[in-house]
Amino acid sequence: MVTGRPGEATVVAERRRPTPRADDGDATAAAVVDSVLDLAAELGGLAERPVEALGVVVPGVVDEERGVGVLSANLGWRDVPFRRLLAERAGLPVAFGHDVRAGGLAELTLGAARGSSDAVFLPIGTGIAAALIMGGRVQSGGGYAGEIGHTDIGHGEPCGCGQRGCVERVASSAAVARRYAARTGREVRGAVDVAEAVRVGDPDAVVVWDEAVDALARALLLTSTLLGPEVVVLGGGLALAGDLLTEPLGAAARRPDLLPTPAGAAAGRTG
Ligand SMILES: [Zn+2]
Repeated sequence: MVTGRPGEATVVAERRRPTPRADDGDATAAAVVDSVLDLAAELGGLAERPVEALGVVVPGVVDEERGVGVLSANLGWRDVPFRRLLAERAGLPVAFGHDVRAGGLAELTLGAARGSSDAVFLPIGTGIAAALIMGGRVQSGGGYAGEIGHTDIGHGEPCGCGQRGCVERVASSAAVARRYAARTGREVRGAVDVAEAVRVGDPDAVVVWDEAVDALARALLLTSTLLGPEVVVLGGGLALAGDLLTEPLGAAARRPDLLPTPAGAAAGRTG
């Protein structure tokens, strides 16, 4: 929960909940709406002032203008009118958007990309998508802009999007954990565990990590070549690895200016 004028937001209360999942996409969407309304009521009870508006962001293909979650491959919904559903039940104004683009907007107005006109915000989490900021505006492309995780880098493995060779299959934090487990037979909690193994010299972890860095570097080189951003801000779970990611990635992508955004910084909570 945030208060203050635009550009000067102050976090006054924070709660985290896992994303609810149900049997199908429509039921999951309904559970997400319920969860948002519960959370708003709980946060409203903690603050000195009542909740005046809701800002809600979701992953997948999002049509901000219509307020619709068009498609989420991970959560299974299609064409859910989130903004209308939330506004009707909460009786409040609702701003609705895409998680990564909202993160990019937060980095632009409050975070590491502040003062830039052209920037890329690249959170590397369960999936990989970028917020592309050009001329001081976050590009939406009707919900399809910035899907850098689904560029083909030639490894040939099939991806859930229907194409082959996608960056995301090798370089998302979920992929890093999955590929390490497949290679060694050892389950890990996530990419952070693989990063720890790299630091102590585990050769399997080094191979998996290097492949992820190489895939990300190709995607970043492509993006930098096309857009010429002044700043590239890295976020998400993999950015928690710090210099283990930024140093080799900056060198390979020829961007020594990569900025990891601190965990829990502007992106994600004040977006
Ligand atoms: Zn793909």
